[in-house]
Amino acid sequence: MLLVVTDERCADHMAGTNHPERPDRLHAAIDGVVRSGVRDAVELMAPRPAVDDDLALVHSVELIDRVRRIADAGGGRLDADTVMNGASLSAALLAAGAVVTATEELAARDDLHAAYAVVRPPGHHATADRSMGFCLFNSVAVAAARRADAGERVAIIDIDAHHGNGTQDIFAERNDVLFASIHQSPLYPGSGAVTEKGAGAGEGFTINLPLPPGATGDVARQGIEAVIGPAVEEFAPDWVFISAGYDGHRADPITDLGYTSADIADLVADVGALAPAGRTVVLLEGGYDLDAVRDSSAAVTAQLVGEVHRPEAPTTGGPGMDVVEAAQRLHRRR
Ligand SMILES: [Zn+2]
Repeated sequence: MLLVVTDERCADHMAGTNHPERPDRLHAAIDGVVRSGVRDAVELMAPRPAVDDDLALVHSVELIDRVRRIADAGGGRLDADTVMNGASLSAALLAAGAVVTATEELAARDDLHAAYAVVRPPGHHATADRSMGFCLFNSVAVAAARRADAGERVAIIDIDAHHGNGTQDIFAERNDVLFASIHQSPLYPGSGAVTEKGAGAGEGFTINLPLPPGATGDVARQGIEAVIGPAVEEFAPDWVFISAGYDGHRADPITDLGYTSADIADLVADVGALAPAGRTVVLLEGGYDLDAVRDSSAAVTAQLVGEVHRPEAPTTGGPGMDVVEAAQRLHRRR
């Protein structure tokens, strides 16, 4: 069974009129789960909301207090493109809580193959002390920190088109959480150069594959085959978390990668193959074309129960293999 953790209240968060990070994204992703052809193999569950002690594992008290103050005031602006209404705090607590719930359910049950948190707002841009880029709290980081603080090893693979700068920052100096990102460059937020590979004890535990506009699925998959896969295998994680933004889809209006939903499902399959049985947690990050979100979510859902549902064909032949080769040289295994 695949556990899908979601909550309709995640649709109550509004980031402003005509904002690309809109409630219908959640509905499109759930529509994909329903249309995946494997609905019978999916168990739906509501999340337990995260509490301040969860958030405090990765966020400063100042950030948590600021988000709460703005929520109490009925909404307001966190940064140039990150806006809250009165329902945003509860949505963000449910989003972070969903990843925690997904992880706890997998740990407690042996009838689940994987879990998929279908939530918004996204989280991977939120740093320890700054909400940014449509993200309030870093949901994947909260769940990863809970496991890592309990002595387990967590690999977070981020396939969103944007660099997961917040997740990278939070774990940059740790060697019990490996962070790898395949993203478009140049693109917001501007970080994620191939040379960014962690610091201190965490050096070598951050991997970046900044692909050029137009990069296709085969290039991203080669990044997993040649760079991320060997590193994760050597790391030997207890958990693999996948920050699954669907904005790498070629139809996405705010990015320029060349993937289809089939490529995105292939990436999830390749990364999921690196996880111990029953220890893969996928969460929705970005993705701003509703049809692409629906198709990607459907393809990923089927993939997570071992079935194939591919509304589109995979893509090949785009640029970026030079980036994969540069990262391979930089991260050559010892
Ligand atoms: Zn994104």
